[in-house]
Amino acid sequence: MIALSPRSLDEAVRHLADDPALVPVAGCTDLMVRGPEALHRMDRVLDLLGLPELRGICAVSEGLEIGAATTFTEIRHSAAIRAAFPALTAAAEQVGGWQIQNRGTLGGNLANASPAGDSLPVLLALDATVILAGPAGQREVRMDGFHTGYRKTALAPGEILVRIRLPHPPAGTVQAFRKVGTREAQAISKVVVALAGHVEGGRIAGIRLAAGSVAATPVRLRAAEAAILGSSPGLVTAERAGRTAAREVQPIDDVRSTADYRRFALERVVRRMVLGLT
Ligand SMILES: Cc1cc2nc3c(=O)[nH]c(=O)nc-3n(C[C@H](O)[C@H](O)[C@H](O)COP(=O)(O)OP(=O)(O)OC[C@H]3O[C@@H](n4cnc5c(N)ncnc54)[C@H](O)[C@@H]3O)c2cc1C
Repeated sequence: MIALSPRSLDEAVRHLADDPALVPVAGCTDLMVRGPEALHRMDRVLDLLGLPELRGICAVSEGLEIGAATTFTEIRHSAAIRAAFPALTAAAEQVGGWQIQNRGTLGGNLANASPAGDSLPVLLALDATVILAGPAGQREVRMDGFHTGYRKTALAPGEILVRIRLPHPPAGTVQAFRKVGTREAQAISKVVVALAGHVEGGRIAGIRLAAGSVAATPVRLRAAEAAILGSSPGLVTAERAGRTAAREVQPIDDVRSTADYRRFALERVVRRMVLGLT
């Protein structure tokens, strides 16, 4: 296997343009478990971990930018992320075990595009934007438009995911993350949910709910959001959110869970999260 280790984003983009068969790799925690056949086809890889443009967590005027090659361990340890985006910290703490968190990157989780990826609903709920770079330069894609189908993304051939931008949430925003799996730890989710919402003058003034493992892509729970926006927080509102969320998704039966259980779990998780809005 040939591994290219570019020193800059420009160099990496040039390599990809010259050789479209090159596979970009970060922590390899997804790629290395794809099976011998897939690994055999991967004879030329482009190592992204050394690219300075993909590393680090920095404050920008709108919020925070996180390099795509930032590991979940780095996210867990970031005081800036914990202060502003505790839901992302909570998700990072529950990805795999420590070994996976040490290698696995936020960009890899997004680009791998599993509907069960833990960070995906969080980034939807937090209204993230992803920044991509390719031969034509850089462009931005709202998180809502990044996952275009089952394991499909808006990344065009030759493009690299460079950074993820999270805007400052409105003051008083409550954030929540919950993953339901077979075990407490080291489980791929049956259902994963994230919420960001705030209350003003006794009414829910903003609400973003998102879920994974309940459709082919991570989804915003827009009907549930619409059902409670402007309502006063409390049990009746929370129950309405849970019921609506369970109705609006199309989960499947698979090895990890049944569609019925996913709906059941989603209803309860959403209800409990919305109850946390004060
Ligand atoms: C034992 C185990 C447990 C796991 N547990 C969890 C879990 O609990 N929750 C969870 O969400 N995931 C889990 N995963 C999956 C995996 O660890 C994550 O998805 C991780 O974030 C992938 O990141 P990576 O850097 O290792 O990606 P890689 O394996 O390096 O790459 C994954 C895909 O993304 C592409 N890619 C990576 N970076 C970029 C980039 N910057 N630009 C363009 N394309 C890119 C690669 O070409 C590849 O197609 C687990 C995996 C294992 C093996």
